[in-house]
Amino acid sequence: MVHLDAAAAGRPTVATVAAQADHLQREARAGAYVAELEATDVVAGARSRLAALIGPELTGDDVVFQYSATAGFAALLAAWPLSAGARVGIVPGDYGANLLLLASRSELDLVEFPVDRLGRIDIARLDREGMLPLGSHRGTRAPARGVGLENLALAAFPHVPSQRGVVQPAAEVAARCAAAGVDLVLDVAQALGQVDVGGIAASAWVGTARKWLCGPRGAGFVAVRPDVIDRLGVGAPSLYSAHPVELHPPAGGTAGRGGAAVRPLAGPVRLSVGEASVASRVGLATALSELATEDAGAVRARITALARLARRAVGGVAGWRLGEEPDSPCGIVTLCPPGDVDPLAVSRALYQEAGILTSPIPAGRAPELTGPVLRVSPHVYATPGEFELLAEALDRWGRPGARPT
Ligand SMILES: *Cc1c(COP(=O)(O)O)cnc(C)c1O
Repeated sequence: MVHLDAAAAGRPTVATVAAQADHLQREARAGAYVAELEATDVVAGARSRLAALIGPELTGDDVVFQYSATAGFAALLAAWPLSAGARVGIVPGDYGANLLLLASRSELDLVEFPVDRLGRIDIARLDREGMLPLGSHRGTRAPARGVGLENLALAAFPHVPSQRGVVQPAAEVAARCAAAGVDLVLDVAQALGQVDVGGIAASAWVGTARKWLCGPRGAGFVAVRPDVIDRLGVGAPSLYSAHPVELHPPAGGTAGRGGAAVRPLAGPVRLSVGEASVASRVGLATALSELATEDAGAVRARITALARLARRAVGGVAGWRLGEEPDSPCGIVTLCPPGDVDPLAVSRALYQEAGILTSPIPAGRAPELTGPVLRVSPHVYATPGEFELLAEALDRWGRPGARPT
């Protein structure tokens, strides 16, 4: 199978798969909790490696595992002290699940960063106009005056979106947020491993193992700067994140609400989960230690170079237009279909007829998308010859009326 789908789930190495299988064997042989205890150092090493990739001011003690980046974002949002009416800055190309979590908090006032036509935050306009009302990027509203960045309680956006091959100017935005005293949660699910996320002045980060880190499914993480964590509450109350509740009878002995309160455990474990697939974390540890033996900058450069070659090979084939600039410094390549050709059907045909793995991205993935796209995302294991195969297959199966056999 030709694997051009790292943005969905990178192909894990033989060693990463073996590490998970070994751990599962140990769970059966020695007992699951014994095996977990034995894996303590390995899993702590994975947290340290994640911290090292994210920023010089972090250590492994500032990182906790979660089930996924989405679960990590949900925990952060639940824990963040946001009062009613708090303004939260987002981007029009926000990840759909993050946006659902934000929208479910109807007391929050969501505003947008100004963006260019590819959904990238426009720093010059941000400095000039500030944050804009929701939906401003569509240009259908009368231009409204923006509010200054300093009026935000929180900003949150993906460093790299899942539906377009662009990179947000995260360092520039983070510097402005820091200067304005605004916390930034940076979603690095689609960035870590393919672009440099190091040293960005965010307050917290969420990410996932299975994409550009080529780790297993079922492991995500949250990192919080050590000077921020004490301001946060509990992510999801459990015996792993909060102190056990002591029940106090209500004052005066009348029935009603007692004195029970949820108090976070010290440090970032307040954002963690208890029961989880430890094998996934062990597998991630292997993937990260393999990455650490490489020159991470060279890995990123190869991914970007491959994506450029892919855009050159497939852009314009059978009427499919590139969704970003040909030289965009990002491993994600997106293709907008000609006419009403359905990327879902074409992605299926590419897999079934030509053995090429890609992803169809539905329009609902991000509110900025006007139509669905086909996403191609090569990791270091891809070869230029595979893009020629993709171009041929797209020419055959990507045309209106092409029917798989
Ligand atoms: C994939 C993705 C997520 C969610 O990651 P999960 O581990 O699936 O929850 C969040 N943000 C972006 C930008 C993504 O691409």
